[in-house]
Amino acid sequence: MDVIVAGNREELGKAREAAGPGRYALVPTMGALHEGHRSLIRLAREQADQVVVSIFVNPLQFGPHEDFSRYPRTFEADLGVCAEEGVRVVFAPAVADMYLPDRQVAVSAGAMGSVVEGAFRPGHFDGVLTVVLKLFNLVQPDVAVFGQKDAQQLALVRRMVADLNLPIAIVGAPTVREADGLALSSRNRYLSPADRMTALNLSKALRAGAVQREPERIKDAARAVLETAARFDPPLLLDYLALVDPATFTEVTEDHRGEAILAVAAKVGTTRLIDNVVLALG
Ligand code: AMP
Repeated sequence: MDVIVAGNREELGKAREAAGPGRYALVPTMGALHEGHRSLIRLAREQADQVVVSIFVNPLQFGPHEDFSRYPRTFEADLGVCAEEGVRVVFAPAVADMYLPDRQVAVSAGAMGSVVEGAFRPGHFDGVLTVVLKLFNLVQPDVAVFGQKDAQQLALVRRMVADLNLPIAIVGAPTVREADGLALSSRNRYLSPADRMTALNLSKALRAGAVQREPERIKDAARAVLETAARFDPPLLLDYLALVDPATFTEVTEDHRGEAILAVAAKVGTTRLIDNVVLALG
């Protein structure tokens, strides 16, 4: 079956009518689709009768000095991926279709949106949650799939669903990696071969941390890898290394039991990368 492309709310309504009844899953993306996105789509197909993929580079979640204008846009290739993966509807609105020029009201991610990744990207998670809520309202899915790769985003979407009583099931999908450990990301295409060698140390640091048991040892083992990579050419420029509770994103204490997320963010050349791994403590 062909993919139906909808560019605005009206076309989306018609697309849903054409696609027919059943359980709907939404996979929100910013396009430049890769194997990670494909895995989300496959998971969505297991959860629902119809899959809607949204492709929207959301200006609200980029800071003034971030890469909104140079973010990769590969729409025709993305449509091919969606067709191959059995997606029924692609929702790809223009910025003007999503945001009124005089818009006022937005979602606040609260304190949880200003720690860890949020501390380095002020307003980022407000922008993410605002667009996710809008996409939920426009598409009206029964279920939505998000990647564990963006662990704080996943946690905040779950928080929003709980706090605002949204009737949508949230499914988290494991991070897809290259054979050498590098987490797939639309931004990886910016990495030169030398950048990529340095970038490998994000996942290497997470693996070094993951074999330890206690919080301080986990962070020390990961930090040792990151400090070595800081002397590479090009250097790994660390933004943060954090060991946090998966639900709240607060730093775990030495006596923490249960799951924790070891998260890292760093710049390599002009590219900023994030990665994380889920650990069981205690
Ligand atoms: P993005 O297009 O980067 O905004 O990502 C769209 C969705 O794909 C988000 O839920 C991401 O967490 C997820 N995603 C991105 N990279 C990966 C990956 N390597 N593995 C699994 N999911 C991913």
